Amino acid sequence: MKIGYPATLTYYTHFLLWKSFFNSLGHEVIISPKTSKNILESGVKDTVTDACIPIKILHGHVSALKGKVDLVFIPRMVSIVKDETFCPKFLGLPEMVQYSIENVPKILSPQIELKRGFWQIYKVLKSLGQQLGATKKEIYKAIFTAMKTQFKYEKLLASGFFPKEAVDIIEGNKIPVAKDFSNGISLAVLGYPYQIYDSYITVNMLENLKNMGVNTWTCEMVPLRKQKKYRKVLPKELFWYYSNIVMRCTYYYLKDKRMDGIIHVTAFGCGPDAILDKLMELECKSHNVPYLNITIDEHTGEAGILTRLEAFVDMLKIRRDLN
Ligand code: SF4
Repeated sequence: MKIGYPATLTYYTHFLLWKSFFNSLGHEVIISPKTSKNILESGVKDTVTDACIPIKILHGHVSALKGKVDLVFIPRMVSIVKDETFCPKFLGLPEMVQYSIENVPKILSPQIELKRGFWQIYKVLKSLGQQLGATKKEIYKAIFTAMKTQFKYEKLLASGFFPKEAVDIIEGNKIPVAKDFSNGISLAVLGYPYQIYDSYITVNMLENLKNMGVNTWTCEMVPLRKQKKYRKVLPKELFWYYSNIVMRCTYYYLKDKRMDGIIHVTAFGCGPDAILDKLMELECKSHNVPYLNITIDEHTGEAGILTRLEAFVDMLKIRRDLN
C-alpha cells in the first residue's frame, strides 16, 4: 500500500519512526513535496480564515498527495506525556481534513494518547499493525526497527543536526560532520518544529542566519533529560506539549547556555503562543538577554524578515563588543 505522509506538523519530530514502521510492514511511504506557493494557496482555500498558518499548510500538503496514495497518515495527537496535551487543532485534525478537502484519500488516524507512559506507544503500534493486516511477529519486528530509528534520529538532533540533515544521515545520503559552534554570535531560534524548519513559511530564516555567520540553536538540540530539569519551574505549567518544550528550552538557553539572544518564531492566530510569547519575553528581560518575536502568516515576505534579522544580529554584535 502507498501511505502518504504530509511533510509538516509531526513530520519534523516523528516521521522516521512512522516511515520505518510502515516500511518494515511492507508499505511504501510517499512524502508530500516541500511547502510552496501552490501548497500554501491550496491550504488557504480549504481552511477557515482564522486557522493558523501551520494548519493551512497541512491542508495544502494533504491535497498535494491526492491521487498518489491509498491512505494519508494524519495521527490524532492527544498526548505523549502525562498532564500535557497537544493544541486542540491537532486533536481534531483528521475530521478537519476529512470535511474540508474534497476527494481526500482515506485517512489513517491512530489516536496517540500516551498519558500513562511512553510504553503505551507499543499498544498503539500493535493495533495499527493489525489494522494494516500484519502478523504479530511482523508487528514486533517493525516496532523494534521504528524505535531504533527514532532513538538514532533524536540523538542526531541533540548533537546539533537539523531534521533534514538527520534524515539524510540516517538514510545514508550524507556523512555526519560535527558542527562548529565555537565562534560568532549564538542565537536560540525557538518555536514549534513545523514552523522553525519549514523554510517556506519562515522565508529561509535558518539559512539567512547561517549566511550571517550566526550559530543557530533550536529546541530539538536540547536532549530530553536537560529539558526535564526545567519542568515545574513555572508555578503552573502550560497545557500544551510543544509550548512546554519551547518554554523549558528558553530556560535552558538562558541559564545553561547563555545565548547572545533569543528569537521566538510564532504563527499569527496561534492561541498557545499568545501566552508563551509573553512568558518568554519576561524571562529574557529578567536575564538581560535580547529577545525578538517574529510572527509569520501567509503574507510574510523575505525582505521584511531579513531586515529585522540583520538589525537584531548587528545589535547583538555591538552589544558583545561593548561588554
Ligand atoms: S500550537 Fe499554535 S501554531 Fe500550532 S497548530 Fe496549534 S494554534 Fe497552530
